[in-house]
This record gives sequence, structure tokens and C-alpha cells, in this order.
Amino acid sequence: MAATVQLDQMPAAVYIGDGKVDVQERPVPVIGPDDALVEVSHCGICGTDLHLVLEQIARPGSVLGHEWSGTIAQLGDNVKGWRVGDRVVANATPGCGHCRACNKGRPSVCLNRPTPDFMSGTGAYTRYKVVEKQRLLSIPDSLGTREAALAEPTSIAIHSVNLSGVTPDDRVLVTGGGPVGLLTIAVLRTRGVTDITVSEPSAVRRERALAVGASHGITPDELQPAQMGIPVEHPFTMIFECSGKAAAAEMALDQLDYAGVFMFVGTGHDLPRINHNRSIIFEHTLLFSFNYDADGFVSALELLASGDLPLEHLIEADDVPLDGLMATMQRLGAGELPGKVLVVPEVAQ
Ligand SMILES: [Zn+2]
Ligand SMILES: [Zn+2]
Repeated sequence: MAATVQLDQMPAAVYIGDGKVDVQERPVPVIGPDDALVEVSHCGICGTDLHLVLEQIARPGSVLGHEWSGTIAQLGDNVKGWRVGDRVVANATPGCGHCRACNKGRPSVCLNRPTPDFMSGTGAYTRYKVVEKQRLLSIPDSLGTREAALAEPTSIAIHSVNLSGVTPDDRVLVTGGGPVGLLTIAVLRTRGVTDITVSEPSAVRRERALAVGASHGITPDELQPAQMGIPVEHPFTMIFECSGKAAAAEMALDQLDYAGVFMFVGTGHDLPRINHNRSIIFEHTLLFSFNYDADGFVSALELLASGDLPLEHLIEADDVPLDGLMATMQRLGAGELPGKVLVVPEVAQ
């Protein structure tokens, strides 16, 4: 017997066009026999959400938000092994299992993957979400439901760190001390990497990067442009470009040592120019990371539950109601907030 949800309307933060989000009433979605209805507990604000809203890319009428955790409120008749009240996240959509990318163990770039939630307008800046049963993933007992909202961005950081092949003796530069940069630093620390410099213009973000495990914090103008044929005075062996800024990527590449590895993580509008001649002479390796490892969010939940991540510094202390989302997005866009901001599906006013 499926339990019944009494509410038929729920508040949602809806993209209304012109770079704006507003709270509207939406019908509570109806589940099919193979679905669960999940009550959203918390949903993080992602850089992707900022791009989609502030740069007016989202489709008006969309509800964004893909970094969420919650509890099961209702079960379809074919959903076995789960109960109302179970704490869950929705795992990454599995790859098709047979395309070129899946055959290489890279389901993140499956050629047949469905359009992500945040484009189809059924995101989690609202109270209830429909989740297909095969995507339900239990939150470990030792991890709070609120903190489990970090599963998605943590999976992103784990994926780029794994693809990079970083080792504890690497001298690492992270450009950008926002939520992605901070999580990257924290994951690097769990791999025994200790020499981590963050380059970030905002003082509050630099400080937070030190709190989550960076060994040095510098402003971008402290980095010296390279000359042809010789490394800078203190080159890095591994670089994670997490800012998505073209100028940051170009300056970062100048800092890379012989045989160094450069990982592009941050996306952005302006395209960096790469001095291929210099990178050829140095035998640089340029890598790019998108989404998650083949195990989806499983290792991220384990890492979050392990207690090895400084969650109090990675997550901003104050959660934001749906009607506070717009103002918070503007503050994040301006670089005022270093950590991950979580939205709760409530309306303050
Ligand atoms: Zn995200
Ligand atoms: Zn595939």
C-alpha cells in the first residue's frame, strides 16, 4: 500500500526569465508505480545553477537545483525494499552500458545519457521530487541528511581527483576557492596531498581554502607569467582549474612544471588561449573532468560519512529559504560566499 501525501500544492523557486527566480505554487508531482516521491531536505546551489539563472540560459518555468538530499514520502507499488521516511539521495543516472564511453568505464559521458534534471525543469528547489527506484541511494547512518546534499559536488571533486592521477608528492595549484575548489582541496587532503596552493582573489575564499586544507593562499596577481622554454621559479606539478575563468586558466598553465598535469574543472564563457608550443616543450598533460566516477555517488557518501571532510567549512552555516535563493545567487556570483549554500524548501515571508 502506498502512503498518501496530503498536500497537493508545494512552493517552488521557479526561473521566470530575465535572470530571475521567483517562488510559485506548483502541484505536488504524481508518481508512477516504479517511482518514489521524496521530500527534499536540502538542495545546494551549484555554479551551474548560477550560470543558468544569472546568464539567463535556463528555460523560463524551470525549477533548478540538482544537489539535494531528502526522505521518502511515498512509494510506488513496484518499489520494494524502501520505506516512507528512509533518507536518500538520487544517484547519478547510470550510463547505457554499451556505448563507446561506457565501454571505457566513463558513464559520465555516456552517449545515450538522458537530459539532466536541471534542464528539464524538475529540479529540487521545491518540496517534493519524483525519483525512479533504481536511482534511490541510502544515506549512511553516520551522515546527516543535510550534509548528504553534498553528495553530488563531492562526487565531482572525487572524479577530477581520480582522473588526475595525483600523488601525495605532487605540488598542487588550485585556481578558484569557491565551492568546487574547496571540495577539491578537501578531497586532495584525504589522498595525502599536503602541498596545495589556492589562487583566489577573494580574501574570504582564500581563508576558507586554508581552513579546508590548503597550505598556501595567494591572489592571482602573485603568479608570474612564464617565459618560453623555462619554468617559473616555483612551478606546480599538478593544477586544478576550478574558477572557469579564462585568465585564471592561462596564468595557471604558465605555472605548470615539466611533465605536469593540468585538469580543467571549471566551465565559463570566455575561452582560454593555450600556448601549445610551450606545453609541447614541457610535455604537459591537459585533462578535462565532467561529472562522476562510474560508481556515481557511492564513494562520495562514504567519504562524507567518514568524518574525514571538514563539512563545517565546506557548507555555509546559514541555510536559505526558497524566497532567499535569488539574493543568495547574486552573492555567490559576486564571490562573497566561499562554501556551499544549502536551500531548504520553505518560504520565509
Ligand atoms: Zn552541481
Ligand atoms: Zn553509454
